[in-house]
Amino acid sequence: MTENIAFLTGITGQDGAYLAKFLVDKGYAVHGLLRRSASADVIATRLKWIGVYDKVTLHDGNLTDISSLIRILSDVRPSEVYNLAAQSFVKSSWQQPLLTGHVTGLAAANMLEAVRIICPEARFYQASSSEMYGLIQEPVQSETTPFYPRSPYAAAKLYAHWMTVNYRESFGMHASSGILFNHESPLRGIEFVTRKITAAVAQIKLGKQKTLSLGNLDAKRDWGHARDYTKAMWLMLQQDVPDDYVIATGRTTSVREFCSLAFSHVGLNMDDHVVIDPKYLRAAEVDVLHGDASKAHARLGWKSETTLEQLVTEMVEADLTRFKLHEHL
Ligand code: NDP
Ligand code: GDP
Repeated sequence: MTENIAFLTGITGQDGAYLAKFLVDKGYAVHGLLRRSASADVIATRLKWIGVYDKVTLHDGNLTDISSLIRILSDVRPSEVYNLAAQSFVKSSWQQPLLTGHVTGLAAANMLEAVRIICPEARFYQASSSEMYGLIQEPVQSETTPFYPRSPYAAAKLYAHWMTVNYRESFGMHASSGILFNHESPLRGIEFVTRKITAAVAQIKLGKQKTLSLGNLDAKRDWGHARDYTKAMWLMLQQDVPDDYVIATGRTTSVREFCSLAFSHVGLNMDDHVVIDPKYLRAAEVDVLHGDASKAHARLGWKSETTLEQLVTEMVEADLTRFKLHEHL
């Protein structure tokens, strides 16, 4: 039997860690792109946390440097390529619009080109985003809902999304795009609102912090668990025909409700601790996202398995454990 070989960009991020674990458990040889950092001590913290650091092979390179991608693909010869790397934080995309355009948008074309040149038979996954719906054109968003990006991040993702569709249609590549709604976990970056909340709740509970500053509490998101969502990525690449899929829970919740659930979990009241700081407001807001994943249910047999309450509990408990041990992630 030929070995399944996967190559992941963004392997050191939240989804990269969960997907690497999933694929290692399935018996894949897992390779990942590692961009050089001066802080070598924090590299691959997530892969260590999830227990696969010594089970994957990391390759030096950068998504913006196509020569590194060509070299790595020539060495690895993957059967599946998952393009997860991005400047993924929406708020930062207004501070660094060009870098975001370069990494999150244009560099996805680097990856598509490198695959087309070196291993055109490999199956390709692009990490598209519900942020592409932005100023929503339908109350519940599916694959047929028109896009209306509201940030440099979303505009860059839209370019990468259409390039993926274009490479499928132009070159017959097995290229699929997952339009994933927000998904979180104990490995979520600390700057995203869910993790910012659960980390603060843990610190407040442990008496190390008193207040939590947030921006727009009325924004609503369709939040799922990264563990469930990375499985959907793999399912897309197991289909005979490549396609695009919305991945969502079908439930939308406000930041305020998420916050309330997290504080309640440790017996605290958010009103005693949360303050609003305008610096966390956005230049243009995505008020509400609410996904319809019926196509993924029907064709992939995928469904979200973790409830919001379970997600909040898992994240708060993980942060309590971390901060008791004085660990940071
Ligand atoms: P993270 O921010 O946790 O991870 C981003 C990854 O990209 C990191 O491994 C980072 O490396 C890497 N990266 C950034 N710039 C470069 C570069 N120039 N070259 C190589 N690698 C680079 O994101 P998530 O895991 O949460 O998300 C995965 C993907 O899915 C992203 O593309 C994101 O935009 C998209 N997405 C995420 C959603 C979510 O809710 N999580 C929703 C929809 C889409 P380093 O560790 O060195 O910083
Ligand atoms: P996004 O959907 O990819 O932008 O994910 P985020 O977790 O960064 O933000 C989700 C929503 O939470 C957005 O509508 C933000 O405006 C809102 N929000 C409110 N307060 C904060 C905050 O302090 N930090 C972040 N990151 N988002 C906040």
